[in-house]
Amino acid sequence: MARKFQNFINGKWVDAKSGKTFENRNPAHWDEVIGTFPKSGAEDVEEAVRCARKAFETWRLVPAPKRGDIMRAVGDLMVARKEDLAQMMTREMGKVLTETRGDVQEGIDTAYYASSEGRRLFGHTVPSELPNKFNMAMRVPIGVAGIITPWNFPMAIPTWKIFPALLCGNTVVFKPASDTPATATALVEILTAAGVPPGVVNIVHGGGGEVGNAIVGHPDVDLVSFTGSTLVGKKILEMAAATLKRVSLELGGKNAQMVMPDANMELALEGVLWGAFGTTGQRCTATSRLLLHEKIHDTLVEMLVRRVNSLRLGDGLKEGVDVGPCVNESQQQTVQSYVEIGIKEGATLVAGGAVPREPDLAHGWFYRPTVFTDVLPHHRIAKEEIFGPVLSVLKFRTLDEGIRIMNDTIYGLSSSVYTTNINDAYTAIRDIKAGITYINAPTIGAEAHMPFGGVKQTGNGHREGGWAVYDFFSEWKTVYVDYSGGLQRAQIDNYES
Ligand code: NAD
Repeated sequence: MARKFQNFINGKWVDAKSGKTFENRNPAHWDEVIGTFPKSGAEDVEEAVRCARKAFETWRLVPAPKRGDIMRAVGDLMVARKEDLAQMMTREMGKVLTETRGDVQEGIDTAYYASSEGRRLFGHTVPSELPNKFNMAMRVPIGVAGIITPWNFPMAIPTWKIFPALLCGNTVVFKPASDTPATATALVEILTAAGVPPGVVNIVHGGGGEVGNAIVGHPDVDLVSFTGSTLVGKKILEMAAATLKRVSLELGGKNAQMVMPDANMELALEGVLWGAFGTTGQRCTATSRLLLHEKIHDTLVEMLVRRVNSLRLGDGLKEGVDVGPCVNESQQQTVQSYVEIGIKEGATLVAGGAVPREPDLAHGWFYRPTVFTDVLPHHRIAKEEIFGPVLSVLKFRTLDEGIRIMNDTIYGLSSSVYTTNINDAYTAIRDIKAGITYINAPTIGAEAHMPFGGVKQTGNGHREGGWAVYDFFSEWKTVYVDYSGGLQRAQIDNYES
């Protein structure tokens, strides 16, 4: 019997008010139901926001170091449950066990970072321009945070948002992706077990159109932190304009790895295999373009195709599997349609390009790791985010041309350059338009204590991770204390003429 999951509102597990439910299935074996979940609506969001607003009035007064102690307990509980969380995540969304363990570990790192931030949350004291006056700027909580997350990092991404939100003294209404509601539920269970009081974290399951929209449109939600597609991000920003909410958007990518002729070829090959086919290519930072210098193009393509053809597809829980399934049928169909587009545009299919036919893969949303060569910068497979195991290879002649091709996209999340020439490396760091640049490492591999995010249509300028995310989840309050006993007018009394 599949487990029946519920929403968590004001410290209680409850069904959707409508009583409706939806199912979540294992993408590697679609006949396996993970659980049934409440198909919530605006009325459930209403209740969650009301309770989060009420809880804010007490939570905001809990000293930040105390909130940090709870975050440390959260990290400890995640360590204790790491293996079972990783297994659940693999069953729920398909990526291989080593990667889901990494996903949980990122949450653990984020918890311990948040815990230590409870004893910092630094403000500023600054001299006043007037005598006997004290100036400071301090961080204060904002209110109710709406948290809307995708399915590809079901633990890490919610923790990137929820932990700093709570540490700063905000309360949370959380809507996870409907492809990964079980992992999200486990996170809320852990927060509660660690001592987060009722009403401070609430989870409302359901679709983006119903639950997500209701959160973004709610006048009592003060800020929204969203990770997902650029299309939905734009809608959210428009909707949030009505109530002038603070919005953080982490959106799509079309990331490239560039290989110069002097690069270590083996290293570049390992990098692109991990970058393009890790998480079945379903990462915002996935390598979906490989830019090869003409001098090493043919050699590296040959090495690449041999290795791609030997990647093992399968259930991510099984030992030795390299690549899991796509998350669902619609994602598999999107991949297939981009393969057809690539062929029609004139690119050359050199690996994959099909749904596998092996009997043990017949009940999952698998797709063969795919490589196109002869891709031109204007091709759709060089420009649009596919979000699947498809790699487009392009050729360039000079560093400048390579960087120009790399920048020729509406996105700007991650980038990577393989070279042993330090001058070329620093030129690339300066000129690539992306939020993240790796040298001699693949486009994936963010660390929890570093700022994470992109430029152009990958986001709206905020950053997650490390110290930077605390700017989003707190408000600056500027304070002046005048202890002169008289009226002192800034800009006037100290400049008399
Ligand atoms: P998605 O945009 O379809 O959904 C993301 C979340 O938004 C889900 O919870 C969904 O239910 C919700 N949603 C959908 N429509 C909504 C609406 N109208 N109002 C409010 N919420 C709504 O994205 P996805 O398919 O879950 O994830 C894949 C996308 O996420 C890719 O584009 C990927 O690049 C991006 N992503 C970005 C980052 C990053 O940090 N930049 C990280 C991971 C994924």
